[in-house]
Amino acid sequence: MGRLFGIPVRVHVGLILLLLALVFFAPSDELRLRTLLVSLVVLVSLILHELAHALAARHYGIETRQILLHPLGGAAILSERAPTAKAEFWIAAAAPLTNLALAGVSFLVLHFADLAFFEDLAWPNLLLGLTNLVPAFPLDGGRMLRAALDAKLGPVRSTRWAARIGRGLATVAIVAGLATVQPMLVIVGVMIVLAGTAEERASLIHGFMSRRRVHESMDDVAESVSAAGDVGEALRILGAHPRLGALPVTFGARVVGVVYREPLVLAASAAARGVRTGLSDVMDRNIVTHEGDGPLVPLLRKMGETQSRTAVIMDGPEVKGVITVDRLIEDLRSAS
Ligand SMILES: [Zn+2]
Repeated sequence: MGRLFGIPVRVHVGLILLLLALVFFAPSDELRLRTLLVSLVVLVSLILHELAHALAARHYGIETRQILLHPLGGAAILSERAPTAKAEFWIAAAAPLTNLALAGVSFLVLHFADLAFFEDLAWPNLLLGLTNLVPAFPLDGGRMLRAALDAKLGPVRSTRWAARIGRGLATVAIVAGLATVQPMLVIVGVMIVLAGTAEERASLIHGFMSRRRVHESMDDVAESVSAAGDVGEALRILGAHPRLGALPVTFGARVVGVVYREPLVLAASAAARGVRTGLSDVMDRNIVTHEGDGPLVPLLRKMGETQSRTAVIMDGPEVKGVITVDRLIEDLRSAS
């Protein structure tokens, strides 16, 4: 739709269709005009809500990739996580507080002048502000709760508790929605359970990874095979190191890729049938090389960007070890 403060704003076509349908199916011309006006106010209020998140995030040095509005709400997609619990709290709080402030000013104006526009501005903003303050993670209120619990419980337990409380409230909403035949309440409840659980997992994974260092996460076997070598040699080295997830392949002083166990075994059995396969045929060239130790997260980001399964850790010209996605997943499983 355009940019606000340099942030791209995108509106899902479903939301536009929904608002148009509401206007179109209004029972009279007068109501149609009013519905159109209220729809526009709601749309603007939603944008202001997400913009408040984005500007609060910017205050803490985090950029927003885009603001996205869809039929079930919106999201400001941040480029990274809040650096501290305090930042997380205020980034979450800024938006519902903006809606409540707008509602408050509108009610104040209404107190002095009976202007229909301010009534249309007041109620949607009051509703938006209050519903988002419900402490049902991942609603804003739930994020605020998580951030507030963080100081007492630490990142892992606060996330677990916020998600648990969110699921509890969502279950109440689902039961109430079923009992009173309000499908919207049931849908919102189910969405909160699903989104809350997904986000709980993501933050627990992020929490675990953010405490780790490169050297703790690697298979520290300083072995490699020359690109001039053959499948049998690579298998012999991997056979001697059963925990090694990938074997770096070097060409001169450079690492040009890695080979994995399964393709090598397949290549060896193909060779037994007379099909010649070299290391270069089974080599994964899409790898990341990393120099020295340090926090794991920047390396993971690099692997994510290039969609690499494996990083080779170097110390100058020497191979120190490898980090594979499979190994990281295994570590995560045994930690949780
Ligand atoms: Zn929000």
